[in-house]
Amino acid sequence: MATKLVTNYQVKHCVTCDFWSGSRNVDNAGVVVSVSDPSIKGKCLGKWRPNSFTPNHTCPDFKKWGALK
Ligand code: SF4
Repeated sequence: MATKLVTNYQVKHCVTCDFWSGSRNVDNAGVVVSVSDPSIKGKCLGKWRPNSFTPNHTCPDFKKWGALK
């Protein structure tokens, strides 16, 4: 069984990026982000489209997810 990945709004990874299309959840405070499986991939809808990346990938074109504070 996969381990859940939990991170926060200060981490500039795909999982906290506005351009990432992977499945993720954010808490009510807009601070803690989680995914059910850290190995899942989501398409980048930004500069690196249509490549897919895991939640902990990062790049210089990161933009904070709008759901985050
Ligand atoms: S590759 Fe870069 S721009 Fe695309 S989702 Fe990940 S951090 Fe965001």
